[in-house]
Amino acid sequence: MKSAIYPGTFDPMTYGHLDIIKRAANIFDNVVVSVLDNKEKTPLFSVSERVNILKEATKDIPNVSVESFSGLLIDYCKERGIYVIVRGLRAVTDFEYELQMSQMNRKLSDHKVDTVFFNTTLKYSYLSSSSVKQIAQFHGDLKAFVPDFVADLLYERYKNK
Ligand code: ADP
Repeated sequence: MKSAIYPGTFDPMTYGHLDIIKRAANIFDNVVVSVLDNKEKTPLFSVSERVNILKEATKDIPNVSVESFSGLLIDYCKERGIYVIVRGLRAVTDFEYELQMSQMNRKLSDHKVDTVFFNTTLKYSYLSSSSVKQIAQFHGDLKAFVPDFVADLLYERYKNK
């Protein structure tokens, strides 16, 4: 069985993330989407809210599961016995950071863990969680970017801010 971990902040999950999840699920036997519990960032949604959003959005994809992790990604990979990391690339701006991370993770794992990159589907190339949050603050139309239930959660969250 070939498994892969797709780690990220997912604050919140967008159609860009979902597209990567579906494409990875077509290639790997199991895909574990894992929300990073990063104490340095102040996310809009808590870890459990982000996990629940991902679970709801992927409930019809049988070989996808959703978890969370904190600490070093490479330790989490070892713990789960998974040696492939999935990441998405939107533009050249993503490339430098992602390349550095993948090389660092490979080194830290004694060359056991590899990162596989999926190119974004063109229509999502400009889509990011932060732009979605900016649009939500002003109650803009999110239909093309996130599932309706995520848009509702976003509007609700900003109503109380
Ligand atoms: P992180 O803080 O780990 O970058 P994100 O949730 O922003 O977390 O992104 C997780 C992964 O998904 C990253 O590899 C990112 O490049 C990728 N990603 C985000 N949005 C898109 C998109 N629209 N198309 C393709 N990949 C994307």
